[in-house]
Amino acid sequence: MRGGWWRSVVEKIQVWVSDVVLLQPDRDVLRKIKPMFSDSEAEARITDSRRRSDTPPDGAPSGPLASKWTRHKDTSKLISPANRRKYTIIVVGSGLAGASAAATLSEQGYNVKCFCYQDSPRRAHSIAAQGGINAAKNYHNDGDSVHRLFYETIKGGDFRAREANVHRLAEVSASIIDQCVAQGVPFAREYGGLLANRSFGGTQVSRTFYAAGQTGQQLLLGAYQALSKEISSGGVKMYARTEMLDLVTVDGHAKGVVVRDMVTGKISSHAGDAVLLCTGGYGNVFYLSTNAKGCNVTATWRAHKRGAYFANPCYTQIHPTCIPVSGAYQSKLTLMSESLRNDGRCWVPKRKEDCGKPPASIAEEDRDYYLERKYPSFGNLAPRDIASRAAKEQCDDGRGVGPGGLGVYLDFADSIKRLGRKAIEERYGNLFQMYEQITGENAYEQPMRIFPAVHYTMGGLWVDYNLMSNIPGLHVLGEANFSDHGANRLGASALMQGLADGYFVIPATLPNYLATQKPGAVSERDADFKRVEAEVNERTSKLLSINGKRSADSFHRELGLLIWDKCGMARTKEGLTEALRKIPALREEFWSNLRVPGSGDQFNPQLELAGRVADFLEFGELLCNDALQREESCGGHFRSEYQDEGEARRDDDQFSYVAAWEYTGDLSRPKLHKEWLEYQEVHFSTRSYR
Ligand SMILES: Cc1cc2nc3c(=O)[nH]c(=O)nc-3n(C[C@H](O)[C@H](O)[C@H](O)COP(=O)(O)OP(=O)(O)OC[C@H]3O[C@@H](n4cnc5c(N)ncnc54)[C@H](O)[C@@H]3O)c2cc1C
Repeated sequence: MRGGWWRSVVEKIQVWVSDVVLLQPDRDVLRKIKPMFSDSEAEARITDSRRRSDTPPDGAPSGPLASKWTRHKDTSKLISPANRRKYTIIVVGSGLAGASAAATLSEQGYNVKCFCYQDSPRRAHSIAAQGGINAAKNYHNDGDSVHRLFYETIKGGDFRAREANVHRLAEVSASIIDQCVAQGVPFAREYGGLLANRSFGGTQVSRTFYAAGQTGQQLLLGAYQALSKEISSGGVKMYARTEMLDLVTVDGHAKGVVVRDMVTGKISSHAGDAVLLCTGGYGNVFYLSTNAKGCNVTATWRAHKRGAYFANPCYTQIHPTCIPVSGAYQSKLTLMSESLRNDGRCWVPKRKEDCGKPPASIAEEDRDYYLERKYPSFGNLAPRDIASRAAKEQCDDGRGVGPGGLGVYLDFADSIKRLGRKAIEERYGNLFQMYEQITGENAYEQPMRIFPAVHYTMGGLWVDYNLMSNIPGLHVLGEANFSDHGANRLGASALMQGLADGYFVIPATLPNYLATQKPGAVSERDADFKRVEAEVNERTSKLLSINGKRSADSFHRELGLLIWDKCGMARTKEGLTEALRKIPALREEFWSNLRVPGSGDQFNPQLELAGRVADFLEFGELLCNDALQREESCGGHFRSEYQDEGEARRDDDQFSYVAAWEYTGDLSRPKLHKEWLEYQEVHFSTRSYR
C-alpha cells in the first residue's frame, strides 16, 4: 500500500518535471528545479530549447517513457458504442495496416469504407513478407524485454526515430502475437508446441515469430479473415479494384477521397468523418525494388499536395540479401529473406583473381567472411544498412562475384553440415525453391548469390502520436507513415508496426479526433468534392491526350535508374544536384511525349501506371532535395562526404530532426519544417555493431 502511494508520488513528480523541462524549457524554470540538474545538464537543455520545432506538437504525453502509452489511453477521448455507428471512416489500403484497422474499427461499431487497388484485399503487398514479425515475448529467456526491443529499434534507426512512438511499438508487440495466434495464424512452433523464434539483424536475442518463409501471407490471411467477417456483417463496405486518386479536404479537415473504379473507369467521391491512409511504401520510385510492381506513392503524394507534410523521404532501406539484377530488361527484384542470415554466411573471395572461379574451389582460408570480420558481435546479423554497405564495399573493391561482379555469396554449407539439410529445408524451403526458380541454381549445393536492393521506405507522411497528420482527420498507418523506424528499419519490424497501428493504436487514438467532429457533416454532393472530382477527371484526360511516343514504363525506368544511381546506396552533393537538374527535365518530357493507349472508361493498366509515374516524377525531386539538405550520414542515408572509413557519420547537433516537407506549389522549392528529436531515456551515441 505504502509502496504504491510512494510510487505514485514519485511518478507525479517525474511527470511535473518532464512537463516543465520538455514542454517549457525556459531558463528560469530550469533554475528553479536546478537541484535536479547539474549546470552543464541545465545548459545543454537550454541549448536544446533553441532548436525549436516548427511542426505541430507530436502529442505524446509527458511523464515517464514507459507509462506514456497507458496514460495516453487513459486520458484519450471515447465515443460511446451507440454513437459509433454515426461515424464513417474511410480506410484506404487493406494490407496489414489497413485490414487490421478496418476490421477493428468495424468491430468497435464504426461504419467503414475500405479501398484497395488489387482485386482482393488478400493480394496487398504485405502478402510478400517472408521472414517474420518481432515481439518482445522473451520466449527464449535470452534476456529480451520491452526496453531492449525499444532500445534496439531506436539504435537500429540510427537515433532518428521518436522515442515515445518506438516505446509504444515495443509495448504493443506482445499483444500482436496473442491477437494473431487467437486468429489462428500458423506461426512455427517448437517440438513441444511453444511458438518458435529466430533472430533478425541488429539484435542479439531471438524475438522473431515466423511462419516458414511466408509470415506476411499468414498474417494477412488472419487480418483478411477478420476483415471478411466485418464485410459480411455489413460493418465494412469493401471497394476492391478502386484507386484513390485524391484527398478531399473541407474547411481544412480530411473528409473524403476521390477514386477511380479500375474496371469501369468511373470516377466518384466518398465522404467520411476521417480518412486513414494505409497505402504502403514508395520503394518503386527506384523502379527496381523488391516491392510488388503495383506499390506506388500516389495516395500519400496527393495528400501531400493537399497539405500533408512528407517526412524524411530520403530514408530508404536497401536490403542486403536480394537476388542480383540479371539483365537490362528486368522489372522486379526478389528478396531473399534476412532470416537466411541466421544460418547463411556472407563471403567473397579474398583475392580478386578468384572471383570468377566456382565457389567450391576456393579454399576456406581464401574466403573473406567480411561481416564476421568487421562486426564480430553481430556477424552475419548486422543490420541491413550496414550489411548492404559492406557488400557494396566488397564489390567496389573488385571482389564481387557473378555477372558484373555485383554479388556476394550467402553460404549454407556450414549449417547444412551442422543441422542437416532437412532442418534447413524446414526453415527456408520455399525461399530455396524461389531462388532456384529464378537463378536455376541449387542453394543446398552451392552458395546463393545476393546483392543489395531497394526494399522499404522509412519516410512517409508526418504523423503525431495519434497517427494523425498535420491535416486534421487524415491519419496514416503502416509503411505509409514515417513514425517508428528512423533512418533504418530493423528486420521483422514493419509487420509489427503495421499491425500495431491497425489493431491497437488507431482504435485508441482515432476517437480523439472524432469526438471533436459532428458525424456525417459532409456529403459527396458538397462543392469541395465536386471540385476535386473535376480536377481528377481533367488530369486523367490530360494523361490520355498527350499522344506522344514514350510509354509510362520507359519514363519510370529512366527515373528509377537515375535515382538509384544518384540517391541510392551512396549519395553525394554533386550527384544529388545532377539528379535535381535532370528530374524536372524528365518530367517535362513526360507531359509532352507520353503515350497512353486505350481510353479512360475501361480497364486500362497503362493509364493507372501513367498516373503513378507522374507522381513518382514529382516525388523523386522531393526525395533528392531531402537527401541533399541532410548533410550527414545516418542509417540508410549514406552521404559519401560524411563517413568514417565506410561507417556513417551522424551530426546530431545539426540534423537530429525529422525533416517534414510542406508542398508550396513549386516542386523545386518545398518548405522544410523541423521536428527536433528529444530523448528522455536514450542518449545519442555512435552506433556500433563491432
Ligand atoms: C519482399 C518483401 C518481404 C518483406 N518481409 C518482411 C518481413 O519478413 N517482416 C517485416 O516486418 N516486414 C517485411 N517486409 C515489409 C512489409 O511487408 C511491409 O512494410 C508491410 O507489409 C506494409 O504493410 P502496409 O499495410 O503498410 O502496406 P501494403 O501491404 O503495401 O498495403 C497497401 C495497401 O494500400 C492499397 N493502396 C495503395 N495505394 C492505393 C490507392 N491509391 N488507392 C487504393 N488503395 C491503395 C493497396 O491496394 C494495399 O491494399 C517485406 C517487404 C517486402 C517487399
